[in-house]
This record gives sequence, C-alpha cells and structure tokens, in this order.
Amino acid sequence: MKGNLKDLKAEIPSSVTLVAVSKTHTADDILEVYQTGIRDFGENKVQELLSKQPILPEDIRWHLIGHLQTNKVKFIAPFIHLIQSVDSIKLLDEINNQAQNNKRNISCLLQIYIAEEETKYGLDFNEAQHIIELYKAGRFSNVNLMGLMGMATFTDNTDQVRNEFGKLMSFFNMMKDLYFKDDQAFTAISMGMSGDYKIAIEEGSTMVRIGSAIFGERDYKKM
Ligand SMILES: *Cc1c(COP(=O)(O)O)cnc(C)c1O
Repeated sequence: MKGNLKDLKAEIPSSVTLVAVSKTHTADDILEVYQTGIRDFGENKVQELLSKQPILPEDIRWHLIGHLQTNKVKFIAPFIHLIQSVDSIKLLDEINNQAQNNKRNISCLLQIYIAEEETKYGLDFNEAQHIIELYKAGRFSNVNLMGLMGMATFTDNTDQVRNEFGKLMSFFNMMKDLYFKDDQAFTAISMGMSGDYKIAIEEGSTMVRIGSAIFGERDYKKM
C-alpha cells in the first residue's frame, strides 16, 4: 500500500463513497487497506473476485466494476453489493433473474459511455434512457437502479475530462428529473479514478473508484 491513503481520504468529502479498486492485488493487500476502515472494494473480473471474496471479511461491500458476462452473474448474485457496469438489457434481465433466485434485490448502476476513445462497453444516453423506462415500467423487479457510472478519456487534457464528467452529470440530473422524482434511491454517480477523481468530485461525483493511488501501480505479470 502506498503511504498516502490518509491524505487521499482527507481529500475525499465524507459524502463521496471511496471504492478501493483491488484488481490484481492480493487478499493480504486488501486486508491491509480494510484495516484502515475502508469497506468498499471493487474488482473488474468475476473469477478474481470469487478467489478473494470467500477468504476476506464478510462485511466487505464488493463492487463489480468491469464488463460482466451474463453467464457469470449467477456466481456473484448471492453477495454482490453493487454492479456498476450494467451495459445491456440482456445483462440486466439476467441480474434480475439471479436476484430472484437468491431472494434478494441487487443494486446496479448503468455504465454510460462518455469517453472519446473507442471502448467496447457502455451505453449511450439513448440506450440508458430506454433501460430506465423499462425499469420504471417494472421489468427488473429485483433490481435497485441506484444511478450511473462513467469513465472519462485517459488524457492529460483536464478540460476534456471535466467536460465528459459534466455531460454525465447533466444526463444524470435529467434522468432524475424525468423518472426518479419520487424515488430517493437514484442518487449514485460513480465517476473518478486515481488520475481524475479531483475533477470528478468537483463535477458532482458521489462515488470514486480508486486503484493505483491506494495500492500502487498494478503489475499484471503477477497475475
Ligand atoms: C481499474 C479501474 C479503476 C481504477 O483505476 P486506477 O487508475 O488504478 O485508480 C476504476 N474504474 C474501473 C472501471 C477500473 O477498471
């Protein structure tokens, strides 16, 4: 762990949830961060999450932040705290089915595509609005739709990053006005990583997903 977790925490307002992104790091690394009081941890691969979850404290709130294949939903459905990377109707249908099988509700965010670069995953604004309409019509009865997640372009151009977060924020506010006036649960806007969380918080983020600034650089060769 890098020594500056205290400084990092001091920079994040208490109203903003800090999710420690622990992908590629060991259960021992996670435990060290857990002992500083952090309870929210994010993983982007189901396999990796399943290798850590059973051997770590039960009060950890696990977030799935990477692309989720429908055939893997059943493995995380019993315990997952928040699926942040919902990017299709098909996936949300399966999350709903598996939530029903486990007699629980599963909280989700819609992942919105805001970056300029070509990435494979994420919904555009129209697709997201369509899913929200289906949700309001009752299609995903065991899903709690809590908000949106987005990733800005990986660039040094802070104006561009700010602009992308701003667009996500405007869309969030528009959806809230149109569909969630009576639903206090739609509150989460997950944006901001190690390189851009300060801008994200200034733009209204309620949840930051921070990996390398907590755990140090990732070494994918160790995996
Ligand atoms: C890896 C990852 C992060 C954390 O990235 P850092 O730059 O290490 O803070 C945040 N969100 C998602 C979706 C990720 O895959």
